[in-house]
Amino acid sequence: MKREIFIGDVGIGGNHPVSIQSMTNTPTGDSEATLAQIRALALAGCQIIRVSVPDGDSLAGFKKIIAHSPLPVVADIHFDAGLAIKSIEAGAAGIRINPGNIGGKERVKTVLQAARDHKVPIRIGVNAGSLEKKYLHLNGSKAEVMVQSVMDKVKFFEDNDFLDIKISLKSSSVRETVTAYRLMDKACDYPLHLGVTEAGTIFSGTVKSVLGIGSLLLEGIGNTIRVSLTADPVEEIGVALEILKTLGLRDGGVEIISCPTCSRTSVDLIAMARQVEKRLASIQTGHKVSVAVMGCEVNGPGEAREADLGIAFSQRWGYIFKKGKMIEKVAPESAVNRLVELVQLETGSKT
Ligand code: SF4
Repeated sequence: MKREIFIGDVGIGGNHPVSIQSMTNTPTGDSEATLAQIRALALAGCQIIRVSVPDGDSLAGFKKIIAHSPLPVVADIHFDAGLAIKSIEAGAAGIRINPGNIGGKERVKTVLQAARDHKVPIRIGVNAGSLEKKYLHLNGSKAEVMVQSVMDKVKFFEDNDFLDIKISLKSSSVRETVTAYRLMDKACDYPLHLGVTEAGTIFSGTVKSVLGIGSLLLEGIGNTIRVSLTADPVEEIGVALEILKTLGLRDGGVEIISCPTCSRTSVDLIAMARQVEKRLASIQTGHKVSVAVMGCEVNGPGEAREADLGIAFSQRWGYIFKKGKMIEKVAPESAVNRLVELVQLETGSKT
């Protein structure tokens, strides 16, 4: 089991469930826009938010963000120990640095001292693309070298009596990422923040993240995740939640089951399944509720018999079924509304 740290009130490691984080992409100086994004992310299911503090000018905005954010805020810092310290003093719940680019060991020590004084955990984040020169010529695979780089930093932190650590070692290659995290998992007991960096657009980034993060989580590796997409960060949360729900690592919420459609399909099932998914995405339930959207009444109810609720279509009707048993029939044009209503009633989420 990994050690336990806390980012604000979110526990990471120990027995805590895998948490979801994201990063804002609005200018930090524009605290209103950034807070609006954080609120949207929180609503979607994000638990921890990272905000970059690129320069001294953004500190005023960063302070306002911390004061009003519904989520614990992690400061993302590059190159500047002074900014890291000021972000901690401003109330950051955590900071992310690459100790290799923060200006030498003495400066790192000053950051450790500030973090210790304010009980703020530090993520040691090493990326394959930004390894320091001294690691570039070491023998071994890139993954091994990344782990070596992290372990040197961990040793330095430990020598300075700082154990409030979490670790990430990301690469844009899925294979390299998975190999590096596997090695890291064996090498230490600090919680791991998983992600595939620069993963790409919604389509390619989702595929890469599901493969990289998903295969590690299946092996029991990883304590908190960030899906990186070149998109609105709210999209990242949808993918992250789906990964966790699919792997049984997140209770509750609605799981959509839908058939691929075929020549038996007589309605626009693709659009209907999308609508159902969208309208049920924010429902919070204590246990998972599965909802099926199936293209024909011949095979649909049977194929989705495990679903809590579902609908299957003939040419004229939509047949709503519950645990495989038909409970009512509706016209196709009112099918989505009625199904959503029944799920809301079933989950007690109808207001
Ligand atoms: S449920 Fe019916 S419409 Fe959907 S793929 Fe199966 S046979 Fe085709």
